[in-house]
Amino acid sequence: MNNKKIYLDHAATTSVDKDVLQRMFPWFSENYGNPSSIYSLGSKSKKVIEDSRDVVAKILNCKSSEIYFTSCGTESDNWALKGIAYANQKKGKHIITSNIEHHAILHTLKYLEKQGFSITYIPVEKNGIIDPIKVKNAIKKDTIMISIMYANNEIGTIQPIGEIGLIAKEFDIIFHTDAVQAMGSIPIDVQSLNIDLLSMSAHKFYGPKGVGVLYIKRGVKIDNLLHGGGQEKTRRAATENIANIVGLATALEKASKNLKKYNKHVSKLRDLTVKLVMEKIPETIINGDIKNRLSNNINFSFRYIEGEGLLLFLDMSNIYASSGSACTSGSLDPSHVLLATGLSAERAHGSLRLTFGWDNSIEDVYIVVNELEVIVKKLRELSPLYDK
Ligand code: PLP
Repeated sequence: MNNKKIYLDHAATTSVDKDVLQRMFPWFSENYGNPSSIYSLGSKSKKVIEDSRDVVAKILNCKSSEIYFTSCGTESDNWALKGIAYANQKKGKHIITSNIEHHAILHTLKYLEKQGFSITYIPVEKNGIIDPIKVKNAIKKDTIMISIMYANNEIGTIQPIGEIGLIAKEFDIIFHTDAVQAMGSIPIDVQSLNIDLLSMSAHKFYGPKGVGVLYIKRGVKIDNLLHGGGQEKTRRAATENIANIVGLATALEKASKNLKKYNKHVSKLRDLTVKLVMEKIPETIINGDIKNRLSNNINFSFRYIEGEGLLLFLDMSNIYASSGSACTSGSLDPSHVLLATGLSAERAHGSLRLTFGWDNSIEDVYIVVNELEVIVKKLRELSPLYDK
């Protein structure tokens, strides 16, 4: 049994980087002024928010006035979809998306469907990647928006965002991308990719939880989601979460500076894991395109295994990972992403997502693969379907 705590769920969340935390501290109880107040304690807060906005804008290659701070990736996604739908409904009520989006997108679109919007869900190819031609073919006269995620949270597949952006531009359709998983791993230039709206969330790149960004290109017609005070240029009411905004900007700046180093580190660990698992554990498949995926992500399906059981045994060995079935309302639903790639429910249930981070080492890989080998064997022996 392993005693070392090994966290392999960086797609779920990351720890807050120590430098980031240090930069956040003064904004809790030292410089606590309300940014809307006109005295100096308030203007100090206002200035740090604007400085943070400049940092994010520079990284995305857009104007600072196009950056809006939100409370999370979910809020950014909700704002983008509802805001665009409501503001542009006179033009049309059709929206295009994919069938592997995060629930922050899918559930928001289901809500819009109930209000009379029609949604086309582009099916992904077997490798978990969207064919841009299918997006183009889905465009109708009344299409007002395309929303396609940059990288998938379960299988890590990276979508052809540049090509989809070009299609959206050609047809004069607003293009939103949920870049929550991509940010901090892929350099993103919103101008060259023709992105009109982009969502991100700090807790995925070693920033704090509860803060995100929605980039909104100047001139895009969008309704507000939150109504109240005049914060965020009257677009998003609520007193700003200054410490978290500072944390997001600091984390993003650090992630951008270290992008190459980070990708090299995590891909080395991921690739070694893949090699060892495929050598040692028979009847295993890899879900999602093997090349075109986030450098820290791997998603396996082990035949004859229940992912939940696997996670429980891994947890007992101090290894924290994630599986492709989510426990919603007491029932175990196989992942909609894995099903969308053509996997059977049985295979989807036996999946395991490992997502690496800065805190992982080569030693972790060997420990995890050894534990996995033992646990998979044990679970298979218990399975009535497994023919020993
Ligand atoms: N979109 C994607 C692709 C995600 O992976 C997540 C979180 O897992 C979200 C949106 C939601 O972000 P948040 O947790 O900040 O609300």
